[in-house]
Amino acid sequence: MTPKEWKQLFSTETFRKTFSYQKDDLGAGYEKERTTFKLWSPTADAVKLNLYRAGEGGAPYETIMPKRAEAGVYEASVDGDLHGVYYDYEVTVDGVCARTADPYAIACGVNGERSMVADLTRTNPDGWEADAFVPDKEKETVIYELHVKDFSYDADSGIRPEYRGKYLAFTENGTTLRGEGMFPTGMDYLKALGVTYVHLLPVFDYGSVDERVDGGQFNWGYDPKNYNVPEGSYATDPFDGCVRIRELKQMVQAFHKAGIGVVMDVVYNHTYVEDSWFQRTVPYYYYRQREDGSFSDGSGCGNETASEREMAGRYIKSSVLYWQREYHIDGFRFDLMGLHNVELMNEIRDALDALPGGKDILMYGEPWTADVSLMEEGFRPAVKANLPYLKDRIAVFCDNTRDAVKGHVFYAKEPGFVNGGEGLEEHIRSSVAAWCDRDYGWNAKSPSQIITYVSAHDNYTLWDKLTETSGSDEDELLRENKLAAAIVFTSQGIPFFQAGEEFARTKKGISDSYNAPPEINCLDWNRAYKYRELTAYYQGLIAIRNGFAALREHDEESVKRIQFQDAPKGMVAFRVEGIHRKQDRWETLYVIYNSRTDTVRMPVAEGVWDVLADGEGVNIDDVKRQVSEYINVMPKSAVILGR
Ligand code: CA
Repeated sequence: MTPKEWKQLFSTETFRKTFSYQKDDLGAGYEKERTTFKLWSPTADAVKLNLYRAGEGGAPYETIMPKRAEAGVYEASVDGDLHGVYYDYEVTVDGVCARTADPYAIACGVNGERSMVADLTRTNPDGWEADAFVPDKEKETVIYELHVKDFSYDADSGIRPEYRGKYLAFTENGTTLRGEGMFPTGMDYLKALGVTYVHLLPVFDYGSVDERVDGGQFNWGYDPKNYNVPEGSYATDPFDGCVRIRELKQMVQAFHKAGIGVVMDVVYNHTYVEDSWFQRTVPYYYYRQREDGSFSDGSGCGNETASEREMAGRYIKSSVLYWQREYHIDGFRFDLMGLHNVELMNEIRDALDALPGGKDILMYGEPWTADVSLMEEGFRPAVKANLPYLKDRIAVFCDNTRDAVKGHVFYAKEPGFVNGGEGLEEHIRSSVAAWCDRDYGWNAKSPSQIITYVSAHDNYTLWDKLTETSGSDEDELLRENKLAAAIVFTSQGIPFFQAGEEFARTKKGISDSYNAPPEINCLDWNRAYKYRELTAYYQGLIAIRNGFAALREHDEESVKRIQFQDAPKGMVAFRVEGIHRKQDRWETLYVIYNSRTDTVRMPVAEGVWDVLADGEGVNIDDVKRQVSEYINVMPKSAVILGR
């Protein structure tokens, strides 16, 4: 069969009806007495199952011929306790035999080349049954984007050497800069910062780092190999398939103990290579194809998965549910969500909502594709223009806010509102209103659909971008950085920032650091100490948000509490009416952004206001200044007044 013929076959109603497998038991179903192997491979002529004692090397100790059962599933039951047994398949399609790991595997050997049978109960850390994260409704959802290796790679982190760059770094408490006992690092630092979720760059098994070699390799990890298995290079032992599972659970547990939820970055939109386990088990089925049958490339990574094909969509949905159930994951960030169809995203939302506490599980993603996508006709891509069709608790990264605040991500010298850009007041007002205020050819239904951010792992760090546009005057850069942060934390969407934004993180001008050395990518804990006043500003902004429910509610009503005020060019001013709940610290907030290079005297009406934040810092527990009638707003600064 040619690729084009496969494409035609998969589009037929007969194929769809005959080979739709509805049960959720694909993979290796472990029981103490026997393990049942099930592989969906409807186009295979024959399937062979090999069992091994090790995750790499050596010949199989047993080979089995699974029987073809319903809906294109090959099935074999093997007696005995197979926990820790490694396996793979040989799948013959159209006369060609390919060796493959199990795409539905939940455990694997080193580098994910062979799958492993696992009794997951044996991978649970102590106390796992009681592990849970219940979000504190009095606190805002503040998302902190973090890479496992970045967090603890720095030798001055105070984290023990054998845990640096690993999952277990997050289980360390009481660490300090250089171990000197003065400045908290690691988890203690995160707790003090006040973020409520960490969003981890890929922790599923990816292919670009050789797990057999420790040390200086680095990748962000957007190159999926085994979707349902943790990445091995972050484990203390990548060879034993149980260790990565247990240690990822220990990490999640440590976050939960710290009151922090865990969001997983999921990358179902493409596979690392076209010659993937998907492709080897059912050639071309899981991928979108051009008319001539070749791989279409909406991901810009060589291929794009076909979420609208039933078994591919089912795979994605059950994978999300598996991570939630087995690893207690509290949110999912979909890479290139624009390559997935709206119908699937809504189905996943419904499935999560149906779980206990499931409505609190976060879902958001990138509402774009990297290149032309060939989604089948009759399906809607989950791109920004289709926000009205997405459920209101599926949010998207708002590139409009990001670019309005600091300038375009690809044109380094193009400034935004805070760093010299002009004519951006309207976009900043829409950022504040989470793009619910008017129709730009797209708009959000409610702020719950908008992730408000100015930095993420892609492109320049905020500090590097500001340096590109504004030069190296530290004082000016700090003012711009604070103004950008103030906009994020006084806007109605869900605040998000890249780890280290709060201490002027730099990647030394490298905008695409996906495989740059860890020395470039890692968090520099000395820098965290040096810029601790900037960090304090972020902590203060988070505290203001936590003290004022009107900024934390993300429903349709919340936008109506904003009243924009007249303001000169280069400025945006608005009041936010409180919900007057007991816990609100203020009845009204008055927020003014000044992007100008001069001090502006702005009128303030109706009585005396506490100055909660200005260009210098945030003071809410110990208010140092009150104003009435007017306030002088310093150049490139925000003021937040409370009454
Ligand atoms: Ca890997």
